[in-house]
Amino acid sequence: MHSWLVPTMLLCLKRIPFLMNLVPVAYSEIRRDLLAGKRTCVEIVQGHLDRISKYNGQLNAFLTVYDQEAITRACEIDARIQTGQAGALAGMVVGIKDLLCYEDHPSQAGSQILDGFQSTFSATAVQRLLDADAIIIGRQNCDEFGMGSTNENSAFGPVLNYANPAHVAGGSSGGSAVAVQAGMCQVSLGTDTGGSIRMPAAFCGIMGLKPTYGRVSRWGLIAYASSFDTIGPMAHHLEDLALVLDVIEGLDAYDSTLVSDTVIDYQPKKRIAYIKEMVEHPSLQTEIKDAFFERVEQLKAAGFEVVSVNFPYIDQLLPTYYVLTTAEASSNLARFDGVKYGHRADGTKDLMDMYKKTRDEAFGEEVKRRIMLGTFVLSADYYDAYYTKAQQVRRLIQEKTLEILADADFIISPTTSSTAYKLGEKTLDPLQMYLGDLFTVQANITGLPAISIPMGQDSAGLSMGFQVTGRAFDEKGLLDFSKIVQ
Ligand code: GLN
Repeated sequence: MHSWLVPTMLLCLKRIPFLMNLVPVAYSEIRRDLLAGKRTCVEIVQGHLDRISKYNGQLNAFLTVYDQEAITRACEIDARIQTGQAGALAGMVVGIKDLLCYEDHPSQAGSQILDGFQSTFSATAVQRLLDADAIIIGRQNCDEFGMGSTNENSAFGPVLNYANPAHVAGGSSGGSAVAVQAGMCQVSLGTDTGGSIRMPAAFCGIMGLKPTYGRVSRWGLIAYASSFDTIGPMAHHLEDLALVLDVIEGLDAYDSTLVSDTVIDYQPKKRIAYIKEMVEHPSLQTEIKDAFFERVEQLKAAGFEVVSVNFPYIDQLLPTYYVLTTAEASSNLARFDGVKYGHRADGTKDLMDMYKKTRDEAFGEEVKRRIMLGTFVLSADYYDAYYTKAQQVRRLIQEKTLEILADADFIISPTTSSTAYKLGEKTLDPLQMYLGDLFTVQANITGLPAISIPMGQDSAGLSMGFQVTGRAFDEKGLLDFSKIVQ
């Protein structure tokens, strides 16, 4: 080995320990080894548990680790592999965000209000993973009810970024992102209402897919904003995202918003669009912009036509998102009243007092802010001015976005305008925090599928993300194109 290589390698080792000591392989490779008898599920689970015990104390990605249970299940699946009955995801080690219900396990949505709550059923997506012989290793930290962009709004404390623990993981699926980033599980199941899969994926240098609204059942997803919420996978490899999506998607009698006719029939044009107002936005970090345009040049060299388009509603994206999601949240979160489940305040004088004290004690600041905002925009005097107006603007945003996608196969952008913030950097200013969602909310307002894939690192060694948004139900096209970008 050249002598100069040694110091260079040591430097890398210091900055990204994980990539040097455990390059994670895709599930297909693990499966090959499992079926050939070269490895066992027990060994694989143990490997992840070892990493959890090494890193989770500091990073705070998992709230509960199902160690014994995961080992027991691994033994059962090893036996099934022996008899040739392995399910499609046999031995895949998965972590689930704390917004997803898992029968007889705690689900708290990162909140004190669900203290002590154990779910009596499993989310459809979780159940389908179990049916395919995936192994659920634990419950992952997140912003309370998915409300946040840094995972600092969790009742269980923030999640730290594995690449640099002075920085946030991104949110709201921060625990899910860091668990994959640090090799504590192969795949995480996150949720995305306004970017909560893609943003932490970008901050942690992994992949995250938000499926089309109507593709994956929301049954068992603790609701934040029901017309925006989606469930999707996060992993190091595109092929793992595809495998998991294939297992969790599809009709479910418990979710009437699922779409049955998802066959798409359209000829790719090899034309890609980016939104001028996004790439010229003053909040965009220069290094991210440069990395993005490097990718644009590479796409052009690969034979794609890349066009710049105007999007006149850039300034309406965040207000529309925050009016509608807070309205839906104020209604969805009304069910947490101390009567049915979770926390109940002590020493209250009557029912009203109990409701008030319970909600005051157990909801965090950000959740309270949003409930109040949502209640205000739904109130009789202001309904038309805010809620109805935002619904109308949502339609305009949808129409304009579809117009762009009628002429281009995909819309590309950076996933976020900056790399992971320092811990505490944005917590005092909610508006600054909301601004971080500028590039991701469009896919939720429109219901379209979108993915974040790694786009290298900035000079501080923090990850940057490249986002691709596709047409409704064209996840296959999205994943194929992502392979090219990668
Ligand atoms: N940061 C956004 C919010 O706080 C997105 C959250 C999400 O996707 N769950 O609403």
